[in-house]
Amino acid sequence: MSEPLMATYKRLPVTFEKGDGVWLWDTEGKRYLDALSGIAVCGLGHAHPAVRDAICEQAGQLIHTSNIYRIAEQERLGAMLSELAGMDSVFFANSGAEANEAAIKLARLYAHRRGVENPAILVAESSFHGRTLATLSATGNRKVQAGFEPLVQGFVRVPYNDLEAIEIAAANRANIVAILIEPIQGEGGIQVPSDDYLPRLREICDREGWLLILDEIQTGMGRTGQVFAHMHADVRPDVMTLAKGLGNGVPIGACLARGAAAEVLTPGSHGSTFGGNPLACRVGRAVLETLIADRLTENAATQGAYLAAAFRESLGSLPGVVEIRGRGLMLGIELDRPCGDLVGMALASGLLINVTADRVIRLLPPLIFEQADADLLVQRLTDLVQGFLGNA
Ligand SMILES: *Cc1c(COP(=O)(O)O)cnc(C)c1O
Repeated sequence: MSEPLMATYKRLPVTFEKGDGVWLWDTEGKRYLDALSGIAVCGLGHAHPAVRDAICEQAGQLIHTSNIYRIAEQERLGAMLSELAGMDSVFFANSGAEANEAAIKLARLYAHRRGVENPAILVAESSFHGRTLATLSATGNRKVQAGFEPLVQGFVRVPYNDLEAIEIAAANRANIVAILIEPIQGEGGIQVPSDDYLPRLREICDREGWLLILDEIQTGMGRTGQVFAHMHADVRPDVMTLAKGLGNGVPIGACLARGAAAEVLTPGSHGSTFGGNPLACRVGRAVLETLIADRLTENAATQGAYLAAAFRESLGSLPGVVEIRGRGLMLGIELDRPCGDLVGMALASGLLINVTADRVIRLLPPLIFEQADADLLVQRLTDLVQGFLGNA
């Protein structure tokens, strides 16, 4: 018999059967500490009662109608998100890539309404924006694009955290209408830009009349110790996209906009069958309410600082460790060599981590992480990294 699934992932040889908080159990009954949250999705951890109750209650009441009708839960979540982010309106989708598609379409429509014939969006090297054709074209990783040519036109690439390159692009290209950028690059290796990067991007966008579009799909929803990562820099984007942590595992994406950008999409210009359905939005609201009530954003800041300090102490001076960086519970430990093997070694030791950009251990623990969980993570990962680097 052939494999039932297309080989889109090289799957690790483990199947999880249940979860509770920061823990997962596999089909053999072995327990794992989750320091990845399904890649920044399950911020409230697994089987959170608020999420469970929201799903069960809403499923018993109404799952789907259509966006041709008003949807009370969508309006409620939209208002909450806009209020929190200082934005004006929201389009709901089902994933991060779809939220970015909406942002890209919005930027193009915005440009055409202003008479820009062939609009271009500035994007960064080593960025990640999704796997649909437009979003993989925006992504700064050849592996994501290879074989899918012809790519979608209209993206101009600059190095990340390089303001000079943006000034050069601004001086040389009249057709740029927007910048699409991650406040901290996730897939790109937890790249944290300098403190003045976002404020200066905001200034450049204001000066040039460009839209500042922030992809907060990984950094948003409390992950970095602020509800949205751009709040560290005290700037506001014109457009912001969210997904991952918003539904804690129930698929939902959102594209928020403000000012003129909020007026661009009109009836018929964009849409989605499932986007913003009562179930997804009810869960999104439960996630947001829990995030606020349980002060999980603050906890992410506290536990993140604690973890970063502990890792600097235990690994920082080890030969082979290049840098420990990140914000809140979005942490990267860069080694001087490819370290993908660490994922399987960690799995064997009952720990879930990820390696991205070949040499960067990526940690995205649930926002409910407590100090005892952090201590356990530091102890287990330190042992593994020491062994891996041959310094045990
Ligand atoms: C995960 C991610 C996406 C894509 O989200 P999907 O839900 O997988 O489509 C886009 N941008 C960033 C920054 C991400 O981390």
